[in-house]
Amino acid sequence: MNTPMNTATKSFASQADLEEKQVSFTRLSAHAWAYTAEGDPNTGIVIGDDCVLVVDTQATPVMAADVIRRIREVTDKPIRYVVLSHYHAVRVLGASAYRPEHIIASQDTFDLIVERGEQDKASEIGRFPRLFRNVESVPPGLTWPTLTFTGKMTLWLGKLEVQLLQLGRGHTKGDTVVWLPEERTLFSGDLVEFGATPYAGDAYFEDWPATLGRLAALQPAQLVPGRGAALGAPAQVKAGLDGTRAFVTELYAAVKAGAAVGEDLNAVYRRTYAALQPRYGQWVIFDHCLPFDVTRAFDEAVGHRDPRIWTAERDRQMWASLAS
Ligand SMILES: [Zn+2]
Repeated sequence: MNTPMNTATKSFASQADLEEKQVSFTRLSAHAWAYTAEGDPNTGIVIGDDCVLVVDTQATPVMAADVIRRIREVTDKPIRYVVLSHYHAVRVLGASAYRPEHIIASQDTFDLIVERGEQDKASEIGRFPRLFRNVESVPPGLTWPTLTFTGKMTLWLGKLEVQLLQLGRGHTKGDTVVWLPEERTLFSGDLVEFGATPYAGDAYFEDWPATLGRLAALQPAQLVPGRGAALGAPAQVKAGLDGTRAFVTELYAAVKAGAAVGEDLNAVYRRTYAALQPRYGQWVIFDHCLPFDVTRAFDEAVGHRDPRIWTAERDRQMWASLAS
């Protein structure tokens, strides 16, 4: 089944990905919880002394309501902050359900919402409808941050210190991680995945490995990845960081090797699929991500510093061209 010929048909690979996932709500450290779903997008929760902070919202308000239900099983403190690790629709469109005082993002993420938020919303919903359950519950328009920062911002939830850090580009230009220094717990967003294929359609392949090095330098004891199981011990954290770095590095190396000998995107895709499938083909959404990842890596390899904007139409054209 796992060959490009079979998977890169006219409908997106996600059309065959319809299975409901099992949700886990796990306590990772004194103040940190993880809402995970077998490779579907995760949400992080920080329960401070006086309020709750949520990292990434789920894709729709109806889906976010299940996060809120689980939060309410463990605390009745108000949900004051929503932090967006980056701008992708599947992370942000559930924000309104939390009725937070503030939605916080990096200035770079804010700029991406301005520049490409509308196109990204249409693109993501079109690509992977299962991830947008009850999409009609999403309010019109976009999710706008009410606070932005550059580099670092510290929040105090009572006596609990919560750092929002931009440690470099990787999954997107605006990637933000949330760090609890006292308990060494890190919420990485999509900079790190575990058992799930990194989506790299808006990535900076040249930068991503060094950014992961800065995450590792924090020496997290626990890590909530963007997708996949919460990592509850340093050895697991290392496996998550190393696996993501290996995937990104190997993918970009394969793409650059093809580009260097003048191959077109289609040939580069086939070369890269063959190189990565044996090691990574069992990670969830591998067939979904790879065409987008290779397309972006090819652009970067031939000199496009910034990712081009994906639109619903460009998604379909790319998919059709790699299927032929
Ligand atoms: Zn993302």
